[in-house]
Amino acid sequence: FIPTAPDLLDGLNPQQRQAVDYRGPSLLILAGAGSGKTSVLTRRIASLLQNQDAWPSQILAITFTNKAAAEMRDRVEGLIGQAAEGMWISTFHSACVRILRREAENFGFTKNFTIYDSADSRALIKRIIKELDADAFGFTVSSVASKISRLKNELNDVESYARNANFNDPAERVFAEIFRTYTRELQRANAFDFDDLIGQTVYLFRAFPQVAAVYQRRFRHILVDEYQDTNHAQYSLIRELTRPVEAHVAAELEAGEGYRSSQRDATGGIPGASLTVVGDSDQSIYAFRGADIRNIVEFERDFPNSTVILLEQNYRSTQNILSAANAVIANNFDRKEKNLFTTVGDGEKIVGFTGYSQHDEAQFIADEIGVLHEGGMDYKDMAVFYRTNAQTRALEEIFIRSAIPYRVLGGTKFYERAEIKDVMAYLTAVANPADPLALRRIMNVPKRGIGPATEAALQNHADKNEQMLRDSLRQVDELGLGPKVTAAIQGLAATLDQATLVVETAKVADILEGLLKQTGFVDALRASRDPQDEARAENVEELLAQTKEFGTRNPEGTLLDFLTEVSLVAAADDLDDSSGTVSLMTLHTAKGLEYDAVFLAGVEEGLLPHQMSAGEPGGPAEERRLFYVGITRARQRLYLSLAMTRAQFGDVNVAMPSRYLQEIPTELIDWRQSPGMANSRGGTQPRAINARRGELGSSGSGLSSGGSGYGFSTGPSATALARAAKNAENKTQWANRVTSTVRDNGDLKLAVGDRIRHDDFGEGRVSSVTDNGAKSIAEVQFDTAGRKRLLVKISPIEKL
Ligand code: ATP
Ligand code: MG
Repeated sequence: FIPTAPDLLDGLNPQQRQAVDYRGPSLLILAGAGSGKTSVLTRRIASLLQNQDAWPSQILAITFTNKAAAEMRDRVEGLIGQAAEGMWISTFHSACVRILRREAENFGFTKNFTIYDSADSRALIKRIIKELDADAFGFTVSSVASKISRLKNELNDVESYARNANFNDPAERVFAEIFRTYTRELQRANAFDFDDLIGQTVYLFRAFPQVAAVYQRRFRHILVDEYQDTNHAQYSLIRELTRPVEAHVAAELEAGEGYRSSQRDATGGIPGASLTVVGDSDQSIYAFRGADIRNIVEFERDFPNSTVILLEQNYRSTQNILSAANAVIANNFDRKEKNLFTTVGDGEKIVGFTGYSQHDEAQFIADEIGVLHEGGMDYKDMAVFYRTNAQTRALEEIFIRSAIPYRVLGGTKFYERAEIKDVMAYLTAVANPADPLALRRIMNVPKRGIGPATEAALQNHADKNEQMLRDSLRQVDELGLGPKVTAAIQGLAATLDQATLVVETAKVADILEGLLKQTGFVDALRASRDPQDEARAENVEELLAQTKEFGTRNPEGTLLDFLTEVSLVAAADDLDDSSGTVSLMTLHTAKGLEYDAVFLAGVEEGLLPHQMSAGEPGGPAEERRLFYVGITRARQRLYLSLAMTRAQFGDVNVAMPSRYLQEIPTELIDWRQSPGMANSRGGTQPRAINARRGELGSSGSGLSSGGSGYGFSTGPSATALARAAKNAENKTQWANRVTSTVRDNGDLKLAVGDRIRHDDFGEGRVSSVTDNGAKSIAEVQFDTAGRKRLLVKISPIEKL
């Protein structure tokens, strides 16, 4: 029984229809948020299948998360009314793992390679830095990790780096050595890091045209969602996959198979795949991971004869929400003008809220959620977004107290718990005997008397014999260690070897159960006196339950499949629509999603834009896009909130309204305030700071003076501000926040004895200076205004 498919063009507007119906080499759909890009991509796949313009196996669709991939697959199958097996709908990373598992043997890896997550990479980098004494050159794990990642996203390997490096600079020489060692260690461990998954696939295709041809022939239709966030490596992968196969390569490929299965062009080659990409340059928010908007801008040059379709009708949000989004994003330069419209009407006004503190803000959000829920909105249709994970604490506290069911996406971090990492390391060591990182992690877990000295002896033995650490475990009797530790190591080796033997055939749950039993892993936790260990034992059992569930979902699934799935879960994949909870997530995670009601918390300078973006070229523009992404997730209701003071890193800081709030036309927002702030001017938009004196007052005089800066601070708030200002003194966050909004004196240098003039305080003499770059503070004895402490960089002063 095959149900009749609904007409795939039903309800679509003319541009959307054109996109679904397009048959040709390359199509670019450029459109704003909520205009149906993802929907159109989905229908396009369904249309290709329904019209028999493609077999399922000829389709490769790339989404941004695994969750989005699963959804797209379900929708396609729903639209055409039958399962479309063989279709690849996945993230870039999953698609590449699949290719690499099949092909890694071409270039010195085996199919059971380990995928190093960022914690694994960092552990390896840390070791290398230590071994090479590289910290003497100022290298930190973070700086090295992000530099290597950046290089790989640009498809640079050690050789290309070394070619361009300046070897007169010792730091560059050392870095090249770190990079070289890191690359070698990965290869030895039969491991790829996250960036390698893409980069090595590109390398594979470029180095082995015969291998590339298999995929170039297979995928006739390649479709990419969220194209604005592809980086250079991902872009190159698409280029490789859409390349035509030359006649001689095609002939060779099919000669081996004994028949000609592909359609050839006039030259005898196989024409390149048809490519569809959809994106919105206003939603590009991953520049820090190497995403490159140029990929969109240059699409037409790179893919000649492409058709461009613009979609302008938004089907998601009310006009008020859209008008706010349009107004905000219009402040970015260098963008194509586009104006989203909707036919659903203005809807409710956006609600703005200013609280005293983040608790106040969280209380407001919780109260409003309660109101909406009573009004009939499901919890699952509401979401709270924030810029940084640290903001969840206040929200969670109040939600728990208010009995609001919620779920933090990307926040559970189940797989980051130590005991779960330990168990995963067991599974990894079983799957990939070459991986020393996994083996070292579990060598003494549970405790079996293997200390650092024994580990070093084993490692030396392995190095000396040029073999895997795992082999040395087996030969431990050659090391002359004590009988007890020797027996323990032999026991571990036997347990692992036994499991490795059945890695291709046994069920994951059975492998895991055997390991846990033989190592006494759970028993050791249960026997412990540490009360936390009971919870740890439960977590391990939860993992065991997950492997069972995996086995039910994938009857053929192997341990490798399980490890791959776990390595590739992303924050948004936690999402479970049926869960009946309010979703809490960062703005980055929110991309592509939609909710009836959206709360955007912490719309403050320093958070949004984030203080770290201040010094980055294009930083504030990228943060504005992030804000735009947040706003455009909302269907009916949008709430923008902020707190006047925010405790962070143990300090209380004064927070200023985000500059982006001023970009929203005032008539779109209905401002509300904390009930305790009755003295303040109700109903006005908080003004971003102005007429700031740059003064750091221990007396509280500067920041708290009559609310001149805020427009909402009179009455009780003055005390709060004074206290916060005091605490903020000298704090880097404070300086960064202030410098991003007000006057900037560059690197004005003051010395004791200098005469200066201040806009408010008149003339005075500098009596002391603490020179601390952008955070330098001068104490000034003013002729009439008394002694003041000023943050030099931002104070309205000039040297006389
Ligand atoms: P984003 O930029 O946020 O990823 P998008 O352009 O991918 O958004 P979709 O998520 O595809 O937009 O669509 C937004 C909403 O509009 C969805 O709920 C979708 O079902 C709906 N929609 C899209 N096209 C139409 C249409 N022609 N008629 C009615 N609803 C539509
Ligand atoms: Mg989309």
